[in-house]
Amino acid sequence: MSVNRSAQEARALEKRLTGHSRARRGVRRRLAFAVSTALSELVVRLIEIAVALSVSLFVFVPVLLARLAVRLPAGKPLFSKRTVFGRSGKPLTLRNFDGLSGGMATLPWFLELFTGRLALAGTAIRDWQPSPAAAPEQGYISMVKPGIISLWSIRQSSRIAHEGREATEWEYIFRKHPVYDFLLILRALPAMLFSEKEASPSPFFRLLGMKIGNMTMQTAIGMIRQALEEERQSAIFFVNPDCMNKSVADRNYREALMAADHILPDGIGLVIAGKMLGTPLRENINGTDMLPFLCTMAAEERRSIFLLGGKPGVAEKAGDTIAQKYSVTIAGVMHGYFDRKTENAGVIEAINRSNASVLLVAFGAPLQEEWIIRHRSELKPAILMGVGGLFDFFSGNIKRAPRWLREIGLEWVYRILQEPGRMWKRYVVGNPLFLYRVMKWKVLDQSSNP
Ligand code: UDP
Repeated sequence: MSVNRSAQEARALEKRLTGHSRARRGVRRRLAFAVSTALSELVVRLIEIAVALSVSLFVFVPVLLARLAVRLPAGKPLFSKRTVFGRSGKPLTLRNFDGLSGGMATLPWFLELFTGRLALAGTAIRDWQPSPAAAPEQGYISMVKPGIISLWSIRQSSRIAHEGREATEWEYIFRKHPVYDFLLILRALPAMLFSEKEASPSPFFRLLGMKIGNMTMQTAIGMIRQALEEERQSAIFFVNPDCMNKSVADRNYREALMAADHILPDGIGLVIAGKMLGTPLRENINGTDMLPFLCTMAAEERRSIFLLGGKPGVAEKAGDTIAQKYSVTIAGVMHGYFDRKTENAGVIEAINRSNASVLLVAFGAPLQEEWIIRHRSELKPAILMGVGGLFDFFSGNIKRAPRWLREIGLEWVYRILQEPGRMWKRYVVGNPLFLYRVMKWKVLDQSSNP
């Protein structure tokens, strides 16, 4: 009774102080939420209509007139149809400009912004499949309107969509908000620079005389799993533009790379190079992005990992984080500042004694690649991988660029800001030099293989 009375008194006091009862405040809050949602949806619609108007007037109509002039006399159709999943999983027929590719082909999609059947930012556009098996998988994803721009399409452009489409769609749905959509649209602009719908089917591409793997993260992990099962030793290295520049000047490094079983493309520089050489990459695969997949696979296969490299204490910290996050066994750790003239034997013995199946070496390029190749015959682990600054990221020593920056190909800008003294030359001088070398290689390669 006294509890009830004090609760009543508290409510009366609250009403006296604020002027409103709790129930009334709840209604007000719900009303405010409904109004703000309706308002933000209205703003989004207005922006979409403004974009649709601008694109229609300044791009679609001129392209349409040009296509009419070319296609009509030849008796060819102007549009081709594509049926995709619309909102609520219903089929939606879109028109593409027939005979055009990439963004130009999909210009007519902007007209769907007027009808409201497509959003500017939304879930990914996906081909309609009438089979009932496809519908449940699409599930709640279909409740959100598909968009000309999607998180999936942006990640695919920068070739870092390692988690797969469905997981990316769910990430988008959980984050969906007008502000997030707006930022997504901004992100889509630089991503268009390296967008390429079709990846090259070739399993590798040649750059500066090197054979670089062209595969998805899943294929790379499958390949490592197979090497583990067959107890076949594989040296796997990653190359970014800085590595490629170093390989031109440093013969030993170049030879170490050539001796690897697989060289994998790390970063947006290699994605751009692949595009320039007419072999658009399937995915950009770097050690840091690969680690979660590698550890999960190693844990499934009950294999352990040895971490070698980094400043004293760094590999320990990284090992703790990795073991905790991915439930994988860390067989041993060792810093990378031992004397590589006199202490190799002891380090190699420690690695072999640990029975690790995977050895990650983080001395930075070219030290790690040269060390692995020089000692591979003495080392027991099946997988020998050079991983650069990876332990620094996983120990929390150095923060990795946020994902949205990586998605627009600007991870290197973040690295310059973090360590300007060490990084500016690598990127500010190195990136243009790399692109120049790619262009030169393209001309030379094409003239020698016409
Ligand atoms: N490092 C090492 N031993 C050495 C020199 C460097 O273990 O003798 C480590 C260093 O502490 C750092 C990593 O190697 O953790 C190199 O990082 P960097 O960012 O330069 O590598 P990248 O990924 O750029 O190749």
